[in-house]
Amino acid sequence: MEIKQSQFIVSNEDYRKCPEHDKPEYAFIGRSNVGKSSLINMLTNRKSLAKISENPGKTMLINHFLINDQWYLVDLPGYGFAKRSKKLRARLRKIINNYILNREELTLLFILIDVRHKPIKSDLDFIHWTGEQGIPVALIFTKADKTRKHELNSNIELYKQELKKNWEELPKIFITSALKKQGRDELLAYIEQINKE
Ligand code: GDP
Repeated sequence: MEIKQSQFIVSNEDYRKCPEHDKPEYAFIGRSNVGKSSLINMLTNRKSLAKISENPGKTMLINHFLINDQWYLVDLPGYGFAKRSKKLRARLRKIINNYILNREELTLLFILIDVRHKPIKSDLDFIHWTGEQGIPVALIFTKADKTRKHELNSNIELYKQELKKNWEELPKIFITSALKKQGRDELLAYIEQINKE
């Protein structure tokens, strides 16, 4: 699939106010600084599309981008911000959980993980939670250019070992680099394939 059109539509706190439509939604989530904006810009071939979600006030919102008039790319707020107050984190968690658990159009949730690090508890907890809730997910390991191959493989293997404790079948895994445009074709082909099903 080639992305010919990508357009910011709306930001929301409440999943019920998201666009009314029958188009599939592919949502992206991860810890702050994981490389989510860079990945979204890489996928859409836009220098600063995801910047819109970074405007003050929008980092805590659900941001919808319409792609090729066919599907929505949904930029979700990050989770696991240690620096934020407990109250704020609880509010964010509610926004995220309500969207993930209730949004019928949610077709697939991409969970982004910085491949330079060994498994982080908050990432594992979040992935396990999506599994328990029966949410269709895929994992995207980001910043592949920033780590050596053996370290990359070893970190991904550690994630797999952890996930195998709870998951019968592991989610699909992508390895990406926004810098090198690695993983772009695979991700878009995967979305296209699901859209056709
Ligand atoms: P976000 O907070 O998850 O949206 O993360 P950003 O996309 O803003 O990226 C955080 C930092 O990581 C920025 O300095 C990016 O330039 C850098 N970054 C993101 N993706 C990559 C990548 O694939 N390779 C490299 N080398 N740096 C990246």
